[in-house]
Amino acid sequence: MKKNASYVMAVDQGTTSSRAVVYDVKGRVVGMSQKEFTQRFPKPGWVEHKPEEIWSSQASVMAEVMASKSIKAQHLSAIGITNQRETTVVWERKTGKPIYNAIVWQDRRTAQFMDQLKADGLGPMLFEKTGLVPDAYFSASKIKWILDNVGGAKAKAEKGLLAFGTVDTWLIWKLSGGEIHATDPSNASRTMLYNIHTCQWDNELLNLFGIHPSMLPEVKSSSEIYGYVSKGIAPANVPIAGVAGDQQASLFGQRCNQPGMAKTTYGTGCFLMMHTGSSPVASSNQLLSTVAWKVGGKVSYALEGSVFVGGAAIQWLRDGLGLLNKSGQSEKMASRLKSSEGVYFVPALTGLGAPYWDADARGAIFGLTRSTTKAHIVRAALESIAFQVKDVVDAMARDTGESLKEMRVDGGAAENNFLMQFQSDVLRTNILRPKNAETTSLGAAFLAGLAVGVWQSEEELDKLVKIKSVFKPLHSPEEIEASLQGWQKAVSRSLHWVETSNK
Ligand code: ADP
Repeated sequence: MKKNASYVMAVDQGTTSSRAVVYDVKGRVVGMSQKEFTQRFPKPGWVEHKPEEIWSSQASVMAEVMASKSIKAQHLSAIGITNQRETTVVWERKTGKPIYNAIVWQDRRTAQFMDQLKADGLGPMLFEKTGLVPDAYFSASKIKWILDNVGGAKAKAEKGLLAFGTVDTWLIWKLSGGEIHATDPSNASRTMLYNIHTCQWDNELLNLFGIHPSMLPEVKSSSEIYGYVSKGIAPANVPIAGVAGDQQASLFGQRCNQPGMAKTTYGTGCFLMMHTGSSPVASSNQLLSTVAWKVGGKVSYALEGSVFVGGAAIQWLRDGLGLLNKSGQSEKMASRLKSSEGVYFVPALTGLGAPYWDADARGAIFGLTRSTTKAHIVRAALESIAFQVKDVVDAMARDTGESLKEMRVDGGAAENNFLMQFQSDVLRTNILRPKNAETTSLGAAFLAGLAVGVWQSEEELDKLVKIKSVFKPLHSPEEIEASLQGWQKAVSRSLHWVETSNK
C-alpha cells in the first residue's frame, strides 16, 4: 500500500472501550484497533474507570493500529480526539497522578446534591447559563465530590496544585507529556461550569460547586493545533489538532453543519442531535442545548435528546428473554408480519429519557392477545425505538419551529433495515445511512485534518461522506397516525409506575 503523510488518526475513547482509527485523505478507514477496559462499580449507582487504564488502553491501540498497518509517525498528519463526555478526572499537576478514579457520566452518587440545587430553585439559572438540566450526569458535581472526599484536595486546589479534565483533556495531557492542559467547547459545555453564551468558564457556577478556577483547562477551538505528541509516545511529534465529545463528533462526521440538520445514533440508547446554527436554542421541551463545535472562530450549537433504551431493547429480548440468538435476527422476524397487530412495547427499563424524563416509568408490553407471537413482541420492540426517536424529533420541532427535513443515522441498530424503514414512515422523512458507520471517529479525524490542511474546507468534507442507503416513507399517514396514538397511550400507562426513583 502506498503511504503518504496525509493519514489522520482518530483517538476514540468510549465508555467501555478505547479505539484508534486511521483514515486516509478520502475519509476511508485504513486501520482500526480496539480494546475494552475495566468498569468499576464500587457501590450501587457508582461507576468508575482508572484514568491510567483509560490512558494505557488508548496508548496501546494507537501503537497497535500503527504496527498492524506499518504506519509510522511520519505518515500521520494529525490526531483527532473524541471521547465519552462528562466523565471527570482530577490529577496533581506536578506528578500527573490522578487523586481519585475517573467518575463516569453514568455515576449517580451526586444525585442528592443536584436534587438539593433543584429544590433551592437553581435549575432555571443553571439551564439558562449552561443549556443543561440540573443532574448528576454532568462533571461539576463530580469534581465537587472529589474535592470534598479526597483528603487535602481542597487545600491543594486552592494552591493551584490540581488539574481537572474531562477525558479529552486527560488524554491531551498524557499525549503531550503533561505539557498541555486544554479542552474544546463541546466538552466544556458538558461540565455545567461553562457559559454557552459567553463561551467562558463561569465564576458564579465555580463558586456554587466550590471549584477553584486554577483547576480548569484552557478552552481552545475544536479544530486547531493544541500541541504535539511527546517523545517516547507513538506517534511522536504528530500534532493533536481536533477535539470533540462523542455525540458532537458524530454530528460533524455526518456533516450536519447547517441549522435543522440532524443525526441519530442507534446504539444501546439513541442519541439525537440537531444543528441549531450560531446561537443556542433554549428548549421548552426538556432537551439540552450544547455547543456542537468551534471551527474557524465560529461556534455552532446543537439541541440534544437522549433515549435511554434503544438497541438495548433488542439486547434485552435476546439476553433477558431469549427470544433471539442475535440482534440482527430481529429484522427478518419483524418484516414477516404486516403490523404489530396492536402490540406495543414501552422499553422504559431504566425509566424514560427525553422528552419525558421520568425515572419512575417502567417497561411494559400492551395489547397482548392469544394470537400474539414472539415475532409481534420483537416487532413492537423495534417499533418502540422508532417511536421514541419520533418523540424527541417532535420536541425538537416544537423548540425550533421547523420540521425535520431528513435524518442521518449511525450506530449498531441503524443496520436494521426494518427499523430504518419504519423510522422513515413514522417521521415521514428520508433516512440517510452513510457508507462509513464510524461517524464519531470520522468526525474527530475531520476536525484534526481540517486544522492541518489535509482538507481545505468543510465543503471538501461534505463530498467525502457517501450515503449508502436512503429510506423513504412508504406507509400512508393515516396508518402511521393510528399507531402513533397507540404508542402515546402505551407510554401514558407506563409513566410514574414506581413511587420513588432509585436514585
Ligand atoms: P454501543 O456503542 O452503545 O455499545 P452499538 O452501536 O455497538 O452500541 O450498537 C449495539 C446495540 O444495537 C445493541 O444494544 C444491540 O442489541 C443493537 N443492535 C445491533 N445490531 C442490531 C440489529 N441489526 N437490529 C437491532 N438492534 C441491533
